[in-house]
Order: sequence, then C-alpha cells, then structure tokens
Amino acid sequence: LLNAIEMAPRDPILGITEAFNADKNPNKINLGVGVYNDDNGKLPLLECVRKAEAQLMEKLSPRGYLPIDGLAAYDKAVQELVFGADSAVVKDKRAVTAQAIGGTGALKLGADFLKRFAPNAQVWISDPSWENHRALFESAGFTVNNYPYYDAATRGVNFAGMLDTLKSIPSGSIVLLHACCHNPTGADLSDAQWLEVLNVVTTRGLIPFLDMAYQGFGDGIESDGKVVRQFAEAGGAVFVSNSFSKSFSLYGERVGALSIVSSNAEEAARVLSQLKRVIRTNYSNPPIHGGQVVATALASPELRALWEEELAGMRVRIREMRQAFVQKLKEQAPAHNFDFVTAQRGMFSYSGLTKAQVDRLRDEFSIYAVDTGRICVAALNTKNIDYVIAAIAKVL
Ligand code: PMP
Repeated sequence: LLNAIEMAPRDPILGITEAFNADKNPNKINLGVGVYNDDNGKLPLLECVRKAEAQLMEKLSPRGYLPIDGLAAYDKAVQELVFGADSAVVKDKRAVTAQAIGGTGALKLGADFLKRFAPNAQVWISDPSWENHRALFESAGFTVNNYPYYDAATRGVNFAGMLDTLKSIPSGSIVLLHACCHNPTGADLSDAQWLEVLNVVTTRGLIPFLDMAYQGFGDGIESDGKVVRQFAEAGGAVFVSNSFSKSFSLYGERVGALSIVSSNAEEAARVLSQLKRVIRTNYSNPPIHGGQVVATALASPELRALWEEELAGMRVRIREMRQAFVQKLKEQAPAHNFDFVTAQRGMFSYSGLTKAQVDRLRDEFSIYAVDTGRICVAALNTKNIDYVIAAIAKVL
C-alpha cells in the first residue's frame, strides 16, 4: 500500500517559510506568510487574551466534552459580532452558529454540509483566491471554478468580468466571497459593487458563502462586517465562516465558526441538527480553550474594549506600513507608481512584483515573498522597511 505512494506537492507558502528558516542571512525578512507581527517583528500575545486567560486560570474547571456545536457562550458572542446583536437574524433565531477549528475548519464544515444538501452544485471562487479554498471544496467533492477578480492592469477588481460570470453561472451555484480584506490581492469591492453582487446573487438564486478571516483589519469591526449583515438581511440562505486567528492573534488555538442563515427559526433548527451531524462525523466536538478565551474577552465590557483597542492598533500599524511603503518607493523608485498599495485592505498586497523580481529579492537580499508578488504588509516594520524598499528599488 504505502510503498507506491508519491510525494505530495509542497505547500507553496509553507515552502517559503522552510527556505526562510534555512537562510543564514541575519537581515532575512519573511514577507510570505500571512501572520501579523508587531513593530519589533514579533507575533503579539494580546493583552485582552492574557487577561482573559488569567481570569480562566482563577476558576479552572474540569474538561468535559463541549456540545457538538461548541461552547454556547462562544457561539452567541460570534453571532452578535458577525451579524450585530440587534440584527433581525439574531433576534428571530434565523442564524445558527457552530464553533469550528479555525476559519479553515469552518469552511470545511460548510463544504461538507453543502455537499450533502446541494450535491450537484458547483463552487465558484475568485481568481485568485486563498490557495486553500479550491483544495478544501475539491476535497469535499465539489468541482471548483474561478470567477474573474483581480485585474493586473488596474491593480484593482475586474468587476465587470466578475459580475458577468455571476450572471451566467447556473442558479444554485455556490459563490465564495471574501467579506473583507481579500487574500491574496488586498483589493476589495466598493460598497456600491457589493450591492450589485448581492442583487445578482439574490435574483439568480446563487448560494453565497462569505469567508471573513480578517474582520477588523480593513476599516473596523463594524464596517468590515457590513457585507455579511447585508447578505443576511436579504433573506436567502447565507453561509459565513469567520476566524479569530488574526484578530485575536490566536493562530494556534484554532478558533473560528460557521454560521448559516435560514429563512425562519424552524428551518434554522433543522439546519443546526444536520450541521451537528457533519461535525460529529468530522471531529465530534471542538476543543475548549480558544473558544473560552474569545468568549470571555467578548463578554466582558472591559476586555472587549481592550480587544477593540488592540485590534485597531494592528489595523493602524498595517496602514502606516502601507503609507510608508508607497512614500519611500516614491523617493527611491520615482518611475514606478505604487499608490494602489494604500487603497488595498488587510494584511496582504499584490505588489505587482514579478516572479523574476521575487526571485532576486530572495537570492540577493534574503527577502521572501510569494511568487505571485503577494507580500504580507503586516510583516513590515519601522526597522526593516528601509532595507525592503532599497531592495525593491534595486530589483524594479
Ligand atoms: N480564509 C482566508 C481568506 C484566509 O486567509 C485564512 C487564513 N490564512 C483562512 C480562511 C483560515 O483561517 P484559519 O487560520 O483560522 O484557519
């Protein structure tokens, strides 16, 4: 059995980190991986997490199994965050939420659920998209297609191409949308464009699956979540995966959730019962710690305020790095226009660097980026940015 098995292809992004780790240059910089580092280049442990954990340590409790759909206090807190505490979907009990193993786990639950109840639908993801989207839905048994998204010429969204495709695919198709902070491009739709997408999705009977892995990294918790609320209020079925990996800097605790919006409370109860079956046959029930930390932080007014402050700090620092990136390149490479970088949102930028330029950055300067030119702006800081800019100016 095992002796005939071929080596699987290397994960492209993790491969960058392996090469980075093996590099002996003390000035090396990893702009490849999607992790927020602080201005000292360190992964932060948020103060709100430290305090929530201190509270939990004071009243240590035994570790029985959680319910299949996770910690009730966590699911409630997620729902209020994602849809708004006063929203009709929450008040009318039209939304169900299950704790999941990170955003990835939430996507997998949604994919498995959809495969059971929409087995013949196909999935449409943006071109390009987070590299795991295709693999996740394919491994759930779906055919995965691309709708046009990034326009290299304008460094923005090919909105006409996207809309044309959404207008032409079969009704009942599953459309995966990045709710905010598009990964990998950083190019988001405008409010007006979102309304057009919502209109096409609703009138054509498409199934929207909103992936929100970066709530709070774009313009703020409220405004980043606006699209989710607009879809939820529109009335049809909506799938929402969200993740606290980035917003709580809890990558390794695997805290995310899947929410499904139904037409009414009775339908929602049936949906939840089936979602629980999907969870039960995947991993039975989720782990306690990460969910408890997030639930504790979100439920306490003091910790919640602290979280919002710390999240704003991360968001503002990224934005400052975008501005510094553009400003410094203006000085050092005036023939090139990088203004688009400040219009992008979230942790990433499709920088426009070519594969040959990315290769040179790695080989000559030990600066690691993704072959597509994607850089993680959250890996830049006041200490390394001058080195990065000088190197980019040389390879341009
Ligand atoms: N969706 C997108 C768009 C992402 O970028 C990521 C993480 N890089 C995820 C989902 C998965 O999140 P998690 O790490 O919580 O599994």
